[in-house]
Amino acid sequence: MLTPDALRDRLAEIAGKGYAAYRALLGVYDFGHYHLALDHIQKDPFASPTRARLRVPLGVALFPGRFLRDSVARVSTADWLARRSAEVIERLQPQGRATRTVAVDAGGQTVLGRSAVVFPDDCVELRLNVTLPGEGRTVLHREAEDLFFSVIPHLSRDALLYDGAASHLLRAHVECVEDQCALRDRLEDLGLAAFVADGSILPRASGASDLPMDPASAVPTSTPRELAVTVDLPNAGKVTGLGVPRGVTLIVGGGFHGKSTLLRALEAAVYCHVPGDGRELVVTDPTAVRIRSEDGRPVSGVDIRMFFRPLPGDQDIERFSTQNASGATSQAVNILEAIDAGSRLLLLDEDTSATNFMIRDARMRELVSSRREPIIPFIDRVRYMRDEVSVSTVLVMGGCGDYLDVADTVILMEHYVPKCATKQARAVARKLPTGRTEEPRPRDRTTAARAPQPHSIHTRRGRKPSKVSTRGLDQIVIGTDEIDLSAVSTLVDPSQVRAIADAIEYARRSGIVDGRTPMSEVAAEVRRRVDEQGLDCISPHIGRHPGDYADFRALDFAAALNRLPTLSVDPGEAPAHPEPDEEEEPEAESVEEKAPAALPEPAAPEPRKRSRRARRKKAEAPEPIAEPTPVPTIAKAAPEPRRPSRRLPRQRPTPKPQPAPPPDEELEPIPLSAGEPEAPEESAAEAEAKARKRRRPTRRRRKKPQAEAQDKPAAEPTSEPPPPPEAAPTETDQAPRKPRRRRGARRRKPAASASPEGSAGH
Ligand code: ADP
Ligand code: MG
Repeated sequence: MLTPDALRDRLAEIAGKGYAAYRALLGVYDFGHYHLALDHIQKDPFASPTRARLRVPLGVALFPGRFLRDSVARVSTADWLARRSAEVIERLQPQGRATRTVAVDAGGQTVLGRSAVVFPDDCVELRLNVTLPGEGRTVLHREAEDLFFSVIPHLSRDALLYDGAASHLLRAHVECVEDQCALRDRLEDLGLAAFVADGSILPRASGASDLPMDPASAVPTSTPRELAVTVDLPNAGKVTGLGVPRGVTLIVGGGFHGKSTLLRALEAAVYCHVPGDGRELVVTDPTAVRIRSEDGRPVSGVDIRMFFRPLPGDQDIERFSTQNASGATSQAVNILEAIDAGSRLLLLDEDTSATNFMIRDARMRELVSSRREPIIPFIDRVRYMRDEVSVSTVLVMGGCGDYLDVADTVILMEHYVPKCATKQARAVARKLPTGRTEEPRPRDRTTAARAPQPHSIHTRRGRKPSKVSTRGLDQIVIGTDEIDLSAVSTLVDPSQVRAIADAIEYARRSGIVDGRTPMSEVAAEVRRRVDEQGLDCISPHIGRHPGDYADFRALDFAAALNRLPTLSVDPGEAPAHPEPDEEEEPEAESVEEKAPAALPEPAAPEPRKRSRRARRKKAEAPEPIAEPTPVPTIAKAAPEPRRPSRRLPRQRPTPKPQPAPPPDEELEPIPLSAGEPEAPEESAAEAEAKARKRRRPTRRRRKKPQAEAQDKPAAEPTSEPPPPPEAAPTETDQAPRKPRRRRGARRRKPAASASPEGSAGH
């Protein structure tokens, strides 16, 4: 442990030197009421940021036990502290000033367990991303001194110590989240798939914002008498709202009457929201999955017999694989994978569904016989799934009345007000029969287990045995293979995507993906470890700043891995691209390197150079999975379908001022231990040249119907937190950022494939 004087001396020594001299500051400093750990120092002003941790003992911070008494309270308190830290930073270093140097990965409208604030060893620890001040590539030591001796001390005092004056805000935050978790836990007993409290504000300010619509324009929800449910919550007391029953629910109504808005609110409600969001008392089954058509997605070994008869060209439908699924096959696969991963609630919108997957009416049956049409439409399976698979469906349908035959509940949206129209719908169905005959139910529901094969996850990129990166909400790159997540709309925070990217690498590195364990169990095991050990466990930087992670569901982990183009789930299948032997070597750091380094750790030794060979050796050292400090987390994910979990999920970043790291930069090695200096780096120019060389050749991006643009609000790139820490050999970085755009909006349906059914797949 070093003294503040040592920091001051080191700063004085490097005054006016090249930027890399900042590395001399690596170490842990004892400032009395807090400790400051500088875990990683950027190699130049444009590299991804310096990583620091601030740690205050709880005995000093003095938070009443009520705020830390269980995992829900801890996650919501941590979430609040991260937001408060971001506010304090905003006050100390207002946005727009060139001197803005500190950032914290605080959330948006959603409350999620995240790695930005944790409570290890009876301390509260804040993880920061710091851009060290420099003029060109020269150290600005006075500014750095101001940072370490003014900004950070203020931050630790104003953000991390319990403040009686702000305690009502903290209390309101924690109580709000506790109520949402309690409500979500009650859904199962109440026989509900979702609940929307009276007076909720569902519409958002704009398609690109997750903030609530201006209350002057928004129509608050009201509850139709037939669907009213009253629940007693621990903090808010009795609350009445619209209970969406389990089973098959249709949301009908004229165009622009708020159908899709309601469905999106249900989707968002797998996570908790902050007070004032408008959706604080909207909750949904935590295993809900939004299903859409996703033509062009890769599929590996999925049994699609529930929805398909034999396809032309003798394609195997028991282990269906393609690199380019059609609209209907992709939608079927999305359903089957979600059910396999433990989903008990499917959310579908006609706006984003393949018509031929949803329905085939009597006339079309007459014209094209079943022998010639391989698709068994969703309408013929939706009740089977309810009865035999215990999977409920909420479906927005304004255009096809055939679904009235199969609905248990019909909600009619009229001028944004929900009404119960179940009786009228039954009367209409009797009056105007469709002549539809349901397809026979499948006799055999058994499907072959899909076990992801480790050899099909190629983590190598260039000389690095293991490298993953992410871009916003839409993309993970594992090695050089891109996973397109734009259809996985339950991912709402870039930190969730970063966590899933590292979790995939972790699952492979740690042997969870062993070629025998089925996908659902792989996802459940990753979740179990995160629940037990905290999000830090997936990081290659355990014990230091682990990166900016937010909690994710097992379902979304599986959704990401299922979209890896090279994925194979068939043990008999040969590797798609056999990789060099060393790639198969465990690539993590040695045990000591990974062991959690508590903050009060040995002082930083002199910087030393690590040769390339040494680094390589390090990369090939046996895999250690160190026990990290548990990070409290509430997100228990899907795979135990019957037990609704107390999930605190997601955050869409609200526009919070945070310095964004420069895109696509080369990552550098991490220090050997907290306080140990890092390996030598290449020059910025070299690194840039390399980065350019290694940049993934762009895969042809699939296009997507414009209608989808409505459905997925985009992240706010301004608020996107910086990438996780860099390291060798396993790294996560932030891929180049794209101009602000709504998720999905960039994809336009190509003129050539106007039909919802794409070219391939079948
Ligand atoms: P639909 O799916 O029925 O065509 P949408 O849900 O897309 O309709 O909503 C149409 C528009 O109405 C959107 O711009 C949405 O923001 C707005 N909107 C939805 N619900 C409300 C509401 N409760 N109050 C005010 N505006 C709303
Ligand atoms: Mg709509």
